[in-house]
Amino acid sequence: MASSEALHKGSGPDAIRVDRVVHRYGRGGETVTAVGPVDLSVPAGQFLVLFGASGCGKSTLLRLIAGFERPTHGSVRVSGAEPRPGTAAGVVFQSPRLFPWRSVRGNVDLALRYAGVARDERAARRAALLARVGLEGTERRRTWEISGGQRQRVAIARALAAERPLLLLDEPFAALDALTRERLQEDVRRVAAQTGRTTVFVTHSAEEAVFLGSRIVVLTKGPGTVALDLPIGLPRGDVDGEELRESREFAELRAEVAHAVKSAAA
Ligand code: ADP
Ligand code: MG
Repeated sequence: MASSEALHKGSGPDAIRVDRVVHRYGRGGETVTAVGPVDLSVPAGQFLVLFGASGCGKSTLLRLIAGFERPTHGSVRVSGAEPRPGTAAGVVFQSPRLFPWRSVRGNVDLALRYAGVARDERAARRAALLARVGLEGTERRRTWEISGGQRQRVAIARALAAERPLLLLDEPFAALDALTRERLQEDVRRVAAQTGRTTVFVTHSAEEAVFLGSRIVVLTKGPGTVALDLPIGLPRGDVDGEELRESREFAELRAEVAHAVKSAAA
């Protein structure tokens, strides 16, 4: 399925290639195999959801793709090269990790500065980014003056500031209330469609997986291997999120994915 999509796109190397990857933490007698062996190719522009029970190695796999870790065995390639931390991907974590003494504007500007955007271009880029994540009018607020959902929006804007080929998100909405979470899911879906960015999103919610992914990879319980690789044919682009969630197709897929993760974790 991945290869047919790559053919369809007809362009260059896969955005991500994970070949026979195994990752262990620790050394000597005290090692933990966190993930693998895993093989995965992700064509450019795909929205891949990594789905699995807690502890199965989702974050580890994401960290390997971001270049924060090097695999114990096998290889990870991003656009054909070994990923270097900070250049391969924009990353969003469960807690937003903002600079608390800076305003919303200051946090985004810092990311733009690190991304090498010239000073006189930053204001326009910042305005576009904040509009993209629905944060217009909050520029001067401090991070403690905005809601949890808004903080996570700042983190997403920051991850998009550097025009990295990949956007990686590790359970970014897990700590948010249900309503905020749904709104952010809709925004991330739209942002990914608009930017065409290859996206890897980690979650352990079946609802979230089906709503977001154009493909869902279900991992077995730790050390995670690929249990199921499922294309999601729900409409992309400009869709009514609420309508989509209420559709029968959506309910069926959610049930299928929830069932798959249960048997994968058994
Ligand atoms: P998930 O994100 O799916 O919950 P993780 O990738 O965080 O899973 O963890 C996979 C396994 O690796 C778990 O058993 C976890 O305890 C272990 N692990 C994760 N990070 C470390 C680390 N830095 N040192 C040692 N063990 C780790
Ligand atoms: Mg995790």
